Amino acid sequence: MYCDSHCHLDGYEEGQLAALLENARNKGVELVVGVGTTLEASEIATDLSRRFPNVVPAVGVHPWWAIPLEGEALATLKRLAGLKGVVAIGEVGIDSERYPDTVDLQWQSFRQEVALAKEMGLPLLLHCKGDRPRVLEYLRSQGATRGVFHGFTGDSIEASEWLDLGLYIGIGLRAFTRDPSPVREQAIASIPLDRILLETDSSPRSYASEEAMEPARVVDVAQKVARLHGVSAEEVGRRTTANVRAMLGM
Ligand SMILES: [Zn+2]
Repeated sequence: MYCDSHCHLDGYEEGQLAALLENARNKGVELVVGVGTTLEASEIATDLSRRFPNVVPAVGVHPWWAIPLEGEALATLKRLAGLKGVVAIGEVGIDSERYPDTVDLQWQSFRQEVALAKEMGLPLLLHCKGDRPRVLEYLRSQGATRGVFHGFTGDSIEASEWLDLGLYIGIGLRAFTRDPSPVREQAIASIPLDRILLETDSSPRSYASEEAMEPARVVDVAQKVARLHGVSAEEVGRRTTANVRAMLGM
């Protein structure tokens, strides 16, 4: 059994998503977390979770698409977060590497989302590229220590910083394919299996690209993590699925 703890399910053509989720189920992927990136995508994630029983939704505004999260926009996000079955606030965080110009706006939104996660008792699905010391310090000061640092591509020092905060670490195929290095592999080997989540971060865009990413490929991630940890892919799948359920309170 496996769980894709982070993918984006909005924007597929009708029928395509059902086929991808069916393929995932056939490969042993029993649970898929459909993650929001905008208010619209978050709404879609909640709709999809009603149509597909193995999908659970997270709602949030991704830092790449940061908006002033106040007034009606904030009320919408709060409404979505309160819907039955919503399991997390995400994908939220800071990306000062890719969009340095909007970093103030990103912080304004992120603060609201951290507060909302606390208010609702939901974990955070965190995106953080750049500004890491400030993000770590902020989350610590807010006691926002439940959730996952998603899309890990760092070294063992970075891994230990997120782990010390109390977060899980989300690992996808890109951790192995984008600028792979022994340092990265060492870092992944150093993360205890009971703190790792597997993810594809797949979306219609990455599915259509050369990567051909889809939720079923979380099994490939399990195989790569298994090799570094010296256990079977099945064991990695079983344990990381239990981690997701623990994090989401399922
Ligand atoms: Zn994502």
